[in-house]
Amino acid sequence: KEFRNNIKPNWCPGCGDFSVQAAIQRAAANVGLEPEQLAVISGIGCSGRISGYINAYGLHGIHGRALPIAQGVKLANRELTVIASGGDGDGFAIGMGHTVHAIRRNLDVTYIVMDNQIYGLTKGQTSPRSAEGFKTKSTPEGSIESTLSPLEIALSAGATFVAQSFSSDLKQLTALIEEGIKHKGFSLINVFSPCVTFNKVNTYDWFKENIVNLEQFPEYDPSNRVAAMNKIMETHGMLTGLIYQDKVRKSYEDLAVGFKEQGLANQKLDLSREDFDKLLAEFK
Ligand code: SF4
Repeated sequence: KEFRNNIKPNWCPGCGDFSVQAAIQRAAANVGLEPEQLAVISGIGCSGRISGYINAYGLHGIHGRALPIAQGVKLANRELTVIASGGDGDGFAIGMGHTVHAIRRNLDVTYIVMDNQIYGLTKGQTSPRSAEGFKTKSTPEGSIESTLSPLEIALSAGATFVAQSFSSDLKQLTALIEEGIKHKGFSLINVFSPCVTFNKVNTYDWFKENIVNLEQFPEYDPSNRVAAMNKIMETHGMLTGLIYQDKVRKSYEDLAVGFKEQGLANQKLDLSREDFDKLLAEFK
């Protein structure tokens, strides 16, 4: 099961996205997938390149639109494991409308966000995940907007799987991606993935000092939504691990009444060649 290809990633040396790529490749192999059973759909940003660096079906989509494409892929061929991926600007700014509705729709898609708290591809502007006071060329006096909390939003929107990890913690990140893939429904995995070139505040050392690993709380129960929300707020969103999982709620595919057993990709076309040609002619 070889999820590596021979394309050399075009990321800066030290970028957190390298580890996210490795974690996806390891997790896919660990859950027993073959490359032809996986589709990785990405948005725009440095992190969006990831779909080209994994030996699987892949599509590097458009800004903020990884999720609509990923959901379309899953609906058409539900036998595929579908991973959507992108950065915090892609998913939590321009793509936030899609993110919230994908969460509440609960289609069986795993969404991995590489959260570096800045726009890297466009050379360092403040993102919705940047801290208040964060200085960049777009906020030279420091950001005066509050920082968006994707974990709180996900829980409020009815998420059935919410996790967070750090790109340096390959073991935890790989395990969470495996759980996200196995989860029957939408899973959000937010990953602190430092931008070493443009974000000189939220560095590897800064994350190591500020992260609160849920392993410190052996009594923590990830099936308790209220406890999850409290823990997110208590730790100012810096917790890592499996934060919330609802194993009871059914996925969109399971709930849709009359939804055919097989996705479109596997349904027989109930048309003669002649009728098919006529149909095609109508669209010309
Ligand atoms: Fe990674 Fe930042 Fe370089 Fe983009 S600019 S590749 S996010 S380190």
